Amino acid sequence: MGGHVPATKSSTIAWFVTAHTMRKRITRAGPALEPASVAHAKRMGSLRTECGEDATSWPKLWHEAFPYEGARNCTVCLDSTALVRADGRDDGRDDGRDDGRDDVSA
Ligand SMILES: [Zn+2]
Repeated sequence: MGGHVPATKSSTIAWFVTAHTMRKRITRAGPALEPASVAHAKRMGSLRTECGEDATSWPKLWHEAFPYEGARNCTVCLDSTALVRADGRDDGRDDGRDDGRDDVSA
């Protein structure tokens, strides 16, 4: 809810990291989670990963932008996010307005 999505391109994570299994690691800032299985890309407001997996029950790393360094990243998600980024048309237009309705499946 809320629908408050900052429209700045540079500071907004377009796709964050989610994975079926997470493990805990200790960082300088304290304990954090990292993907223990393949990392997938997910958009804010979407129930599925970019490759179409149902990620509703998966742990999510809201502050980690996909792809996740140090984990195995889903190649379909990599492809999908790279295509949209290179194309540019899905960027900026979606911010806020199409939140939740935009079910992009390749
Ligand atoms: Zn994926």
